Amino acid sequence: GAMRHLPYFCRGEVVKGFGRGSKELGIPTANFSEQVVESFPSDISTGIYYGWACVGNGDVHKMVLSIGWNPFYKNIKKSVETHIIHTFKEDFYGEILSIVITGYIRPEKNFDSLDALISAIQEDIEEAKRQLDLPEHLKLKEDNFFHLPEGKTVNNH
Ligand code: ADP
Ligand code: MG
Repeated sequence: GAMRHLPYFCRGEVVKGFGRGSKELGIPTANFSEQVVESFPSDISTGIYYGWACVGNGDVHKMVLSIGWNPFYKNIKKSVETHIIHTFKEDFYGEILSIVITGYIRPEKNFDSLDALISAIQEDIEEAKRQLDLPEHLKLKEDNFFHLPEGKTVNNH
């Protein structure tokens, strides 16, 4: 369920999430729209993944991604949220996020405390950084998928 679909390429608009306060924890997650999530293979496992991400026609950065259960739909639908390992000057709601998921870290977990959650995410980020430097993952950073045709970049701002 997790590895079978990888690498997985996906592109879509960044929409407002559930306001779970990810940004306040220092780990903002760019949420994909319902339609984009629906286009994912239905049997892809929930959990934490890593890969590469690019906003509009910007630079390609490392990312960690969570595929989880969507509280807005009584946890019968999934949500897909990307934390890009880069500091952006501004939010990018409405922009087109392109990602390739290259690897899987772990299943979803419940944590006893906020501190435990934050340190788990920090470990996920470190793991993602290490894995993405390996040739088999690094090569996808240069994939043509990230090189949009000139003048064809969608940007709703
Ligand atoms: P929401 O609940 O609306 O998803 P978050 O607290 O998860 O709110 O913040 C997500 C938003 O933060 C993204 O949609 C994006 O516009 C912005 N953002 C800024 N830096 C990053 C980053 N490094 N990774 C992901 N999103 C970021
Ligand atoms: Mg979010």
